[in-house]
Formats: sequence, structure tokens, C-alpha cells
Amino acid sequence: MSKVLEEVLAANARYANSFGDKGNLPMPPGRRFAVLTCMDARLDPAKYVGLAEGDAHVIRNAGGRASDDAIRSLVISYKLLGTREWFVIHHTNCGMEFFTDDVMRGLLANSLETAALDTNGFHDIGKGPGSTDGEFIDWLTIKDQASSVAADVRRIRSHPLVPKGIPIYGYIYDVTTGKLVEVPEATEAGRAK
Ligand SMILES: [Zn+2]
Repeated sequence: MSKVLEEVLAANARYANSFGDKGNLPMPPGRRFAVLTCMDARLDPAKYVGLAEGDAHVIRNAGGRASDDAIRSLVISYKLLGTREWFVIHHTNCGMEFFTDDVMRGLLANSLETAALDTNGFHDIGKGPGSTDGEFIDWLTIKDQASSVAADVRRIRSHPLVPKGIPIYGYIYDVTTGKLVEVPEATEAGRAK
């Protein structure tokens, strides 16, 4: 068994042993909010916004971007499960700032192995062949965190399936301090009407 698989199963056994009465939690999030944030390993949304099991929805993807699939989850979150406030939280030092669509497509076209990152950005160290299928994906990279948070809040706000009454807050999580920093332009754009 792989070391990671072994560790994961052992950790889960410990968790299940002290599961308590969490088996009785209702499906709708008790605190009626949802967070869209990045998958970055340094971010633990349950800790940085103070969640326990059953409290809130957390939707994660690379960058915490308002992709079609993130919007699908948010729509399910309010329409079927009753959330009333949403947060879009990107973060400093996000990996999505270190490449562009062209770079990603070029890397994948060369090799499917993991690339290396140095001061000149990502470059391939692995063997080919790669694949040109990366051409068909919008990688939703980020140039500037405040702009990406604002753009995502605007996209969600103006989506025809999102009710005007849900406030959408925009924040940047600082990976050096653990603090959330508001993006006023995003919060303004996300104001409930
Ligand atoms: Zn990130």
C-alpha cells in the first residue's frame, strides 16, 4: 500500500472513532453560507473562516475561479440547500499567477510529466510525448488577485441563475499572515439588490 494511502486510511479511522453525533447533521448548511476558494494546499477554509461539519458549503478549484462548474455548485447551494451569502476568496502567491494559457498549453504539448518552477517560471523537465488537448481548456489563470476576485464576483452577480438578493463578498487570503483582506471593488459589485 502506498504511504499516503496508508496514512489517509489511518487518519480516517481516528476521525470516525470520535465522530460523535455528527451522523445526525442535516444536509443544508446550518450557517447558510458558501465559500468559493482555491485548492492551494496552504489554505484550510474550515480553519480560516471557522467552520465545523454541517456549517457551510466550500467549493474549491484551481484559483477559486467562478468557472461554469463553480457556478453550478453555487446555484445548487442556494436553490436546493438554502445558502444566503457567498464569499469569493482568492489568495496571495497563487500558482495561477505563474503561468498563462499559452504557457500551460506549451508545457502539456511537450510532456505530461510534472513541470519544474524556477525564477523564469514553469518549464518541462519530463519526457514526451505530450498532448495538444490543452488548447481546448480555458485555464482561468490570474494576473492580479484583486482584479480576479472582482471579475469573479461580477460574473456570479450577473449570472441569470443567481438571485439579486444574495450578497457576494470578495476577499484575498494572505498566505503569510492567515488574514482575509477585503477587495472593496468586489464587495461593491457583489452587493445584494
Ligand atoms: Zn491558488
